[in-house]
Amino acid sequence: MIGREDILAIFAQTGVLLEGHFQLTSGKHSGRYLQCARVFQYPEHAETLCKSLAERFAAETTDLCIGPALGGVIIAYETARNLGVRGLFAERDKEGAMTLRRGFTIERGERVLVLEDVVTTGGSVREVIELVKEWGGDVVGVGTIVDRSGGTADFGVPYASLIQVDVETYDPDDCPLCLAGSPAVKPGSRKS
Ligand SMILES: [Zn+2]
Repeated sequence: MIGREDILAIFAQTGVLLEGHFQLTSGKHSGRYLQCARVFQYPEHAETLCKSLAERFAAETTDLCIGPALGGVIIAYETARNLGVRGLFAERDKEGAMTLRRGFTIERGERVLVLEDVVTTGGSVREVIELVKEWGGDVVGVGTIVDRSGGTADFGVPYASLIQVDVETYDPDDCPLCLAGSPAVKPGSRKS
């Protein structure tokens, strides 16, 4: 099972977790920026992380993995590959409701593992859990790479994350990094 230091090393190497002074799309400032999708550019890292996640649920009989698009697509696929089961994804319809499209189905009584890259409030994961239940599936657990909930995430089923990361955010008027005099930058903006 991969340890916290190894995961942080992969995150640093792939630019998943940036340290600095950032202006987030919400307008808030932060000393950290997390972009989990970046790690999935590298199939070997996706394999390592999802294998470790699959191991957490090795004791459960699982028939399929599902994740919400877009963040949960690759992790659901790769975890499914590790478990030797089907992997599919849920996505929003025009009204914004989480749904199965593309002919994906869940059979009544199938045991389903729900995957997502990062959980903050857990809203999308809860929607997928409800979707699985509507199809008659049994949710055996939730797995994520990163838990940003501060340990408060509770889905009513076993939940495993590979790493907890706290990303503290500040109002610009009350930002200690601004007070220290450094300029906030938008993540992803290129330095010339
Ligand atoms: Zn600031």
